[in-house]
Amino acid sequence: MQIRFHCPTDTCVAIIEYEPLEGSGPTMECPRCHETHPISVSDSIRERGIVDTCAVCGCKEFFIRKDFPQVLGMGIVVVFGLAALYFLTVSVLMAWIILASAVFIDVVIYFLTGLVTTCYNCRADYRKYTRDPDHAGFDLATSEKY
Ligand SMILES: [Zn+2]
Ligand SMILES: [Zn+2]
Repeated sequence: MQIRFHCPTDTCVAIIEYEPLEGSGPTMECPRCHETHPISVSDSIRERGIVDTCAVCGCKEFFIRKDFPQVLGMGIVVVFGLAALYFLTVSVLMAWIILASAVFIDVVIYFLTGLVTTCYNCRADYRKYTRDPDHAGFDLATSEKY
């Protein structure tokens, strides 16, 4: 299990990666601002690897999303899009092939990436966990409660 979350301190922008290990304490120190924050890893997380309660904020609702690197996905589209524009003056077919390969690469990345469980409240990400069948994809109605 790996938890990645934004430091709860308002003025701090650190993204903290935390692995709850055997015997890790009820607090963690932010490597950037050195504040200590309470963290409560539930028995379910520690023993079964199932996320039931958010270790950072105590929220009990989560959604599953693809761990798709959006910046990379966008970058491919932009770079290939520009290349396609350039080749448009040479050959329309060439431009189409370039665009099609951009889509293809994005699809491949999409299928290769794993799933992340994310807390609705604080957006902490949980990786390397056992999937809880109760968790579903992002739900806007649930999200609006927070
Ligand atoms: Zn911090
Ligand atoms: Zn949370």
